[in-house]
Amino acid sequence: MTQNVPLLEVSEARRRLLDHFTPLEPESIPLAECVGRILAKDMIAPYDLPPFPNSAMDGFAVRAADVAVASQQTPAILRVVADVPAGRTVETVIQFGEAARIMTGAPLPFGADCVVPVEDTDFNYRQPGISVPHVVKIYRPAIEGANVRPAGEDVRQGELVMNAGHCLRPQDAGFLSMLGQAHVSVRRRPRVAIFSSGDELVEIDQPLAPGKIHDANSYTLAGLVKQNGGVALHLGVAADDPRAVREILDRAVESRADLILSSAGVSVGALDFVRSVVEQEGSLGFWRVNMRPGKPIAFGHYRNIPFIGLPGNPVSAYVGFEIFVRPALLKMQGAVQLERHWQLARLMEPIESDGRETYLRAIVRFKDDEIQARLTGHQGSGNLRSLVQANALLFIPSGVKSVPSGSLVRIFLLDGAV
Ligand code: AMP
Ligand code: MG
Repeated sequence: MTQNVPLLEVSEARRRLLDHFTPLEPESIPLAECVGRILAKDMIAPYDLPPFPNSAMDGFAVRAADVAVASQQTPAILRVVADVPAGRTVETVIQFGEAARIMTGAPLPFGADCVVPVEDTDFNYRQPGISVPHVVKIYRPAIEGANVRPAGEDVRQGELVMNAGHCLRPQDAGFLSMLGQAHVSVRRRPRVAIFSSGDELVEIDQPLAPGKIHDANSYTLAGLVKQNGGVALHLGVAADDPRAVREILDRAVESRADLILSSAGVSVGALDFVRSVVEQEGSLGFWRVNMRPGKPIAFGHYRNIPFIGLPGNPVSAYVGFEIFVRPALLKMQGAVQLERHWQLARLMEPIESDGRETYLRAIVRFKDDEIQARLTGHQGSGNLRSLVQANALLFIPSGVKSVPSGSLVRIFLLDGAV
């Protein structure tokens, strides 16, 4: 039967899978919770940033014409007529021959057109709390606009400042705050029901018995789901038995999942029931993808909910998530950037491959002005330790069978690698 299963290139399989996903509905969340979420609407600046012209320095707001020829020998001597701390405004209009003491971030008073830093004056700024002098000597010239941040220097009212689909980072949160956005419209988090299948698997709170191993994939996949903006729903382990598989799939539906994610039980083993059960209640495409690790991947719908069946081997499940599930989750959240940011790295050892598109576990580090990559030990797809040691995945394209040491190869950093 394997002969009838199509062998797809990774890009084709991903394209077919992603066709079935559309962005979830938007929701409004408090600004403080927005980091990691994906903006649902274009952000148009409601006002200028900065909203008013303000000082970039602690010093004296003056008219540039008054200080145009000021020097150490012939300082400009100005009357100090106002004091403008940050957060206050003053009515005083600065006339020729006058100055206002001003703090960084304080609004520039009318009449003034530049700020002379306090270091260029005779004012004893090192003494905290010292009161404003009656006159100030200015020792250096300044030109109009010097040390002033004009209104709209950063952002103009009405400007498009963030596109829908942008994944919000801490600096975006700060920026949205500057723009007065107490709530942000983001796409709802996808709910992902996760289960593992196999008679050999026991839950983490159960003791191991001969022939048994703990379920690793549920934890890896739940972490990946969360890292990529989803909500992970832990359903546990289904035995290699159609009734158990059906029961867990039904629980996934009841949990209002947007996606059901399983690992193992989808290949051609005699006890691989997941596929047949999904098919009874929906549809399932099963592909052999021309990739390593993780050739078999199942995709379909169970009672109208998208279902992705990843391979059982822990590294294959991880890579399968990377290639297929991560972009699907991002698409559900309306993200525009579904692809990883690839970088080129210098391969520090030769690699043999088998012609499939290959994702190897690597350690990359910056050395001698380049990114250098080495593999992390035994690359068998059951060996999770090699993935634990890795900080990157290294890509060997389809059709390539050997890559000499010293070649440039594509890598991307794993999330959370520091
Ligand atoms: P299968 O796809 O069921 O043939 O499983 C392939 C390999 O992955 C077997 O060695 C399984 O024991 C192992 N495996 C499957 N599921 C898990 C899991 N959740 N955690 C750890 N290993 C697993
Ligand atoms: Mg199995």
